[in-house]
Amino acid sequence: MASMPRLQRENRMKGFTLIELLVFIANAIIAYFVGRYLSEKWGTIGWFIGVPAGFFCLIGAAKVVLFISSRAMPIRPMCRNGKCGANDYKFLKITKDGSVFQCRCGDKYFRLRAAARFLEVLPDGSLRPYMKRKPFGKWQPDQDQPPHLPVSLANH
Ligand SMILES: [Zn+2]
Repeated sequence: MASMPRLQRENRMKGFTLIELLVFIANAIIAYFVGRYLSEKWGTIGWFIGVPAGFFCLIGAAKVVLFISSRAMPIRPMCRNGKCGANDYKFLKITKDGSVFQCRCGDKYFRLRAAARFLEVLPDGSLRPYMKRKPFGKWQPDQDQPPHLPVSLANH
């Protein structure tokens, strides 16, 4: 039992990615400059207001950007029935070529890894093109041929 705290600490360290670390450092630097700027105007109190303000404004701004981009560029298109949005899909499995999702209607879809294509998985395991998109673009009807995957997606 004595090793538990160390294990938990290691897990937490692993969850803290390099990107998060860089964002955290950037936040801290900006918070420092906001604090210093306000401290020159208001004295010590400027530090107490400027540092948290600088820090949380940046986190807030990042969240707003993420929210807007997830609205403008949803990671998954609406399902074929028009009932399920990007977050209504249930992740089923990951394969070498992409991921299988199921929407709330019960239909299965396949997100191709090599290209931004979202295909319908038919009951026999074959794929029917549904939607695709260009980088930073909107989902549009996919008129291309279905990709040839080595493994059938039936029974998954
Ligand atoms: Zn659906």
